[in-house]
Amino acid sequence: MGGTFDPIHHGHLVAASEVAHRFELDEVIFVPTGEPAFKQDRDVTSSEHRYLMTVIATASNPRFTVSRVDIERAGLTYTVDTLRDLQKERPDADLYFITGADAIAQILTWKDAPQLFDMAHFVGVTRPGHALSDAGLPNGVVSTLEVPALAISSTDVRERVADGEPVWYLVPDGVVQHIAKYGLYRGLP
Ligand code: ATP
Ligand code: MG
Repeated sequence: MGGTFDPIHHGHLVAASEVAHRFELDEVIFVPTGEPAFKQDRDVTSSEHRYLMTVIATASNPRFTVSRVDIERAGLTYTVDTLRDLQKERPDADLYFITGADAIAQILTWKDAPQLFDMAHFVGVTRPGHALSDAGLPNGVVSTLEVPALAISSTDVRERVADGEPVWYLVPDGVVQHIAKYGLYRGLP
C-alpha cells in the first residue's frame, strides 16, 4: 500500500487490514512516498517523520511492515518503480497494490500504466466522499472492495493539529505522541 502517510491514520490501517483478510495476504507492506524534488502544492513532511509514524502505527501487527524503497529512490515516486523494487526484494511474491477510490480513478494516467497490470493485482477500496468505480479501466485488472467507512484524511488530521483540535482516535496513539513530540503540522497556513 503506497501513500504519502502524512500522517498515517486509521483509514489506511482499516483498509489494509480488510484487504489482507479478504485476499488472504501474508503481509501488507506500507510504502511511504519519497520527497518530491520540486515543491508541489504544499510542503510534505520529511520522509523520515512519515516513515517513523508509519512504523509506529504498524508496530503491533506482525503482518504489517514498512518499506523504504520509495524514500531511498531519488525523484518523484512512480508505482511502476515501487513494484519493480518490491519484486526484486521478494521474487516469489504475488503482489497486490492497495489503493483508495480517489487514487484508482487516476490509475490510467500513471507512468507505464499497461505494464502495471502485469506486475500486480490492483485492489481499489471504498473511501467516504469518493465514488469507487473501475469504469474506463481494462476488464478485470482491478478488484474493488468495500471497507468499513472511516471519514478520515491526512489533510483533515494536519488541519486539526494546526487548529489545536484533538486527533486522538483518528490516528494511533503513538502517532499522536510523535506529532506532539516533534511539533509537526503546527505552523500550517
Ligand atoms: P492527503 O489528505 O494528504 O491526501 P490521504 O488521507 O488521502 O492524505 P494518502 O497518504 O494520500 O492519505 O493515501 C494513501 C492511500 O490510502 C490512497 O490510496 C488513499 O486513497 C487511501 N486512503 C486514504 N484515506 C483513506 C480512508 N479513509 N479510507 C480508505 N482509503 C483511504
Ligand atoms: Mg490523498
